[in-house]
Parts: sequence; structure tokens; C-alpha cells
Amino acid sequence: MPTFDYAPAPESPSIVDIQPSYGLFIGGEMVDPIDGARFKTVNPATEEVLSEVVAAGPEDVDRAVAAARAAYDGAWSRLSGRDRSKYLYRLARIVQERSRELAVLESIDNGKPIRESRDVDVPLVAAHFFYYAGWADKLDYAGFGPDPRPLGVAAQVIPWNFPLLMLAWKIAPALACGNTVVLKPAETTPLTALAFADICRQADLPPGVVNIVTGAGETGRTLVEHPGVDKVAFTGSTEVGRQIARSMAGTRKKLTLELGGKAANVVFDDAPLDQAVEGIVNGIFFNQGHVCCAGSRLLVQESVADELLARLKRRLTTLRLGDPLDKNTDIGAINSAEQLDKIRMLSKIGETEGAERWSPPCELPERGFWFPPTVFTGVSQSHRIAREEIFGPVLSVLTFRTPTEAIEKANNTPYGLSAGVWTEKGSRILWMAQRLRAGVVWANTFNRFDPTSPFGGYKESGYGREGGRHGLEAYLDV
Ligand code: NAD
Ligand code: MG
Repeated sequence: MPTFDYAPAPESPSIVDIQPSYGLFIGGEMVDPIDGARFKTVNPATEEVLSEVVAAGPEDVDRAVAAARAAYDGAWSRLSGRDRSKYLYRLARIVQERSRELAVLESIDNGKPIRESRDVDVPLVAAHFFYYAGWADKLDYAGFGPDPRPLGVAAQVIPWNFPLLMLAWKIAPALACGNTVVLKPAETTPLTALAFADICRQADLPPGVVNIVTGAGETGRTLVEHPGVDKVAFTGSTEVGRQIARSMAGTRKKLTLELGGKAANVVFDDAPLDQAVEGIVNGIFFNQGHVCCAGSRLLVQESVADELLARLKRRLTTLRLGDPLDKNTDIGAINSAEQLDKIRMLSKIGETEGAERWSPPCELPERGFWFPPTVFTGVSQSHRIAREEIFGPVLSVLTFRTPTEAIEKANNTPYGLSAGVWTEKGSRILWMAQRLRAGVVWANTFNRFDPTSPFGGYKESGYGREGGRHGLEAYLDV
């Protein structure tokens, strides 16, 4: 139970204007579909229908790719980097100006707490556009030789966990490098991408430079397999990533994949335990655990395991679960019924396989998709909850005795996206970072994102980097 109750402090949804139905953003306009049907999108916290969007069909996708091609040949690839950067700065500033609206819309569509969409997602979206605006006129100095060329038309498919932020990660570097894009948001979270379409119009971006086609997996497949596409960037499940890689083989398309993870968050006995507890909470309960780089496996040194777990459980009893628009909410709704089923199924398997399940006392709202913060102790490396990505607010706890054992266990995964290390010793941080097979290693912190820092995986977590100077390479012909 929370130590004391707060009065409700909901952010008003009146700032957003959700239309009853949307078209597709193609060639700078919202257009009706040619062969696409419409489907409903719901608020995961209430199950209320928010709007109807298009599941774009092959002809719609074809039209979007043609618009992107025309914009590439006609305007965008001929603009100077300096002019491209002006557009990117404009997009960044409009995102800032409309930040409250975007944050509320993201929370309504995705279920994430307003505190996170307001303080993390949307500011990072603006930061990404600002950062890549700065590169657009400096590509000659980015380390890829003089006058590096764009690739052409980029097909970009993104997931539902950070809808607008993943859009920014994809669109900002692509445009900075001189490419045009067709982006497909996830089927459960199309609304902020459609709001971004409006921002593109507001910024007077040349028509066709950014095209947004909504739809589900079939639309995504049609888009990435379209012969008119030069580059494919995908973030989502390893399963779909593998399928895309297979279909790209033997084509001239360039591909980057950002897939799943099962990160180890490693706590040594000399770590400041209260800080580590905050890092563990941020690592796995941020965004309901719908985070590819989530610290879903806690590896704690045996000598401090009992103490750390006691403090962690105490801390978890203070988390507030509920209305995503309430400013005091820590844990929002699970994004979809389908994802909730997956989290329930894997948690059930955790119990069946013999791990001990614990959640704080926590009342779940009656409507909507909810799952309480959950901790599994007594987890062994062979358990499915220690190996598979749950993508929910579920932590698996394992213990270790020596640094070598910590490395062995941390690396014992098909994934390799991120890892965390908690210790007072700088030398141990460096020793661990050299041995952890993960694209990002956080030391005494977790889930820190910065547009200047490259992000990406090893092994089944994918290939290619997003963010930083490295992120330019994915959109240049180098
Ligand atoms: P998904 O991979 O099916 O969906 C991600 C995006 O790909 C969506 O936009 C979807 O419409 C699109 N897509 C689906 N099939 C496609 C295809 N054949 N070709 C092209 N695009 C396609 O992910 P999901 O079904 O929403 O979630 C399943 C699991 O994936 C989750 O439980 C989680 O473990 C993992 N996941 C990882 C991330 C990540 O950031 N790495 C994000 C979302 C989900
Ligand atoms: Mg899927």
C-alpha cells in the first residue's frame, strides 16, 4: 500500500483533438486509402475506442513510396545540408511548442504515465531533431569521407513502446542525411505519428519527404518488401526482424534492425543499495517494462541479495499504478490485450517452473489492460523467464558470487542490447564493460538515453546503430 494516498491529479485531455477517423499522410496531404480498410484504435487504460485509422493496402503503400521517390528526386536530395537543417530545427521547435499535446496524446494512445511521456519521451523527441539538425550541414566532417550521399527512400517500421520517440530516432537521421521516408507506426499506437504528420505540414516540409502509412504487420511487410525502397529500418520483435532480414537477402536494400533484449542489471556487494534499488525500478518498471533494453534480469551478489531484495520490495509498495494521465502515476496500462496475454502466460510459466512470484498489494482498475509490478526470485538460468523477453513489468532475480560468474550469467543470452553495473569501484566497472556483450553498458544508472550516444545491439538484438554520429552511417551510402 502506498504510504499515503494522493488526491487525483489528472492532466486534462482537452488539449488533444482526436479525429473520429484518419487517412494516410502521403505527398504532404492526408488522403483516403485506395485499397486499405479502416480499423479501430483503443485507449489501453479504458478500452475506449479513440479513432479509426487505415490499414494501408499495397496500392496505398505504392503511392506513398512513389511520393517519397518524387520528393527525393525533385527536392530533398538537391537541397543543401544547411537548408535541410533549417527544416529539422523547425520540426524540433514545433515538437517543443506542442509538447503538452503530444505527451497527453502519447499517454492516451499508449498507456504510459504522463510523467514519462512529458519528461522523457517528448523532450527526447525534440532533442533528437535538434541533434540531427546540427549534423545535416556537417556530413563532410562526420568521418565518412567528403560529400557522403544519401541512400534514397527509407522504409521505416516502428513498435508501440515509444511511438513518437522511435519515429524521431528513425526520421531525424534519415532526413538529416538527405533521404525521404515512408514510416509505418505500430497498429496499436498510430496517433502521435499522425500528429507528427500535421507537424510536418506546419513546418512546410516539402511534400513527400515524410509519408506516414498506418496499418499492421501486413502493411509493414508490403512496405519493406516494396522494390522502390532503398533502405529498411526496423525496430520490433526478433521474430519479425529475422523475417525481414530473410526477405532483404539478395536485394540491394540496406537494412538496420533493432530487436529485443534480456538485459542483465548487475549489482555488486559494494554498490550503494538505495541507489541501485532506484536503478532497478527504473530499469524494469519504467514504461511498464515495455522497453527493449529493460533491465529484466537482476543479477545480485549473493552476500547482499537478501538486503537488496528487502529494500526493493519495500520500494515497490510505494509505486502507484493507474490512470496514465495522473501526474502521480508510476505504472500505466499494458499497451494491448495481446501483450497482456503474453506477460500473463510467461509469468504463469515462471511459477510452473518453480520460481517464487511476488507483487506488492496493488489494486488493478476494472477496465483496461493492467499488470502489477512483479518480482520472481529463485530464478535459474534455464527458466524461460530468465531467457525470453517478457516485455512487461516483470523482474527475474538471479544471484552470483564472483565477477566472473556475473559475466558468464549476464552474457548467457541470445540477446545483447544493454546491461547495467552497480559498484563503487571504477576499475570494476571498466572490467565488466569490457566483458559484457551488450551494445550499451550503464554504470550506476539505467535506461539513460541521449541523442548523442549510439544505441544498438549484438547477436539477436540486431545490427546497426541509432543515435550519435554512428546513427548517420545507417542513412548514408558508405
Ligand atoms: P512486432 O515485431 O510484431 O511489431 C513491431 C512493428 O513491426 C509493428 O509496427 C508491426 O506492425 C510491424 N510488423 C509486424 N510484422 C511485420 C512484418 N512481417 N513485416 C514488417 N513489419 C511487421 O512486435 P509485437 O507483435 O508488437 O510485439 C511482440 C514482441 O516483440 C513483444 O512482446 C516484445 O517482446 C517484442 N518487441 C520488441 C520491441 C523493441 O523495441 N525491441 C518493440 C516491440 C515489441
Ligand atoms: Mg507481432
